[in-house]
Amino acid sequence: MIDFPETYAAIDVPEGAVVRSGGTDLQERLRSHNAQPRIVDLTGVQGFAGIDRSPDRVHIGGGTTMAVVARELAATHPALAIATGSLATPQIRAQGTIAGNLTQHTRCWYYRHPDTDCFKSGGDSCPARTGRHLYGVVFDRSECVHPHPSTIAMALLCYDTTIVLADGSTRPIDEVLGDGTDPTRDHQLAHGEVIAAIELTPGWADERGAYFRSISRFEAEWPLVEAVARARFDDDRVAECALALGGVATVPLRMAAAEQVLTGSTLDDASIRAAAEVCAEGATPLPETGYKVELIVATVIETLERLRAA
Ligand SMILES: Cc1cc2nc3c(=O)[nH]c(=O)nc-3n(C[C@H](O)[C@H](O)[C@H](O)COP(=O)(O)OP(=O)(O)OC[C@H]3O[C@@H](n4cnc5c(N)ncnc54)[C@H](O)[C@@H]3O)c2cc1C
Ligand code: SF4
Repeated sequence: MIDFPETYAAIDVPEGAVVRSGGTDLQERLRSHNAQPRIVDLTGVQGFAGIDRSPDRVHIGGGTTMAVVARELAATHPALAIATGSLATPQIRAQGTIAGNLTQHTRCWYYRHPDTDCFKSGGDSCPARTGRHLYGVVFDRSECVHPHPSTIAMALLCYDTTIVLADGSTRPIDEVLGDGTDPTRDHQLAHGEVIAAIELTPGWADERGAYFRSISRFEAEWPLVEAVARARFDDDRVAECALALGGVATVPLRMAAAEQVLTGSTLDDASIRAAAEVCAEGATPLPETGYKVELIVATVIETLERLRAA
């Protein structure tokens, strides 16, 4: 059964139902019997898709496709635009939405298997921890060991990002993501809480941005490790910057210590390497994810070299 509300006020998500934006994640889980068949489709809700700008904010409707976000924000929010335009495939970006990307479920192969139970599907164990976790976390902070799936969540951590819900209430992005310690959750929204929009402050003047993912094949794959960075320069020196990592923990991580290393630098090779090494500090790899420690350093170096050249 599918409901098609036309306004936010008309959205009602009964127990056992799920909302659908682009449907690219949900349909796959329905096929593997890993989601509920009762759907509340948001695509007809007035104002759900589209970008509005005012002097003090950018309002991105939750139903705005990733392709539109990548195109329309390239000039003002380049780090977000490049990260969004680099994920998945052109087809997925044309259909999938920014709200659906933030709330998609983990890509863990045990979770996605119809016959396997784990913390995230109502069970009481993590078969990946005792089994195969080659693509797992390298900062081990939860009983769940699969990284958060959202590239856009990682990028939004670098901005002053507010999530607007359908009832008009707002939450900061880090509150919506949580600290990653709850093995049962991909995000902290309760059942029935629907993302209506994402709001950003305007980008910095002359902002530069960069993104890089280390990946096991060219496209149509989740990254092993990914990094995004944005910066504002005074003369040749970094005046302000933000750096975040994905693919390494059950939530994307903002790298405050590395940002301190970079601030005031000219993004010379030595400060780039020092910042990259700081990002890998404190890593607690699993038996199969030790390779990611070195990959963090390499991924951040590549990202920051791209930022310098941007
Ligand atoms: C080959 C491939 C590679 C990919 N690589 C990447 C990658 O590198 N990085 C990345 O980030 N993603 C990647 N993806 C995932 C893709 O980006 C997601 O499928 C897409 O973003 C989901 O958006 P959607 O609008 O289709 O979500 P939907 O399928 O509609 O929904 C996804 C989930 O979010 C919930 N939801 C949807 N809308 C809302 C809302 N407004 N409020 C609250 N909850 C909501 C749904 O109930 C569902 O649980 C990849 C996908 C494929 C197939
Ligand atoms: S890593 Fe997380 S999603 Fe995967 S089996 Fe363990 S608890 Fe489930």
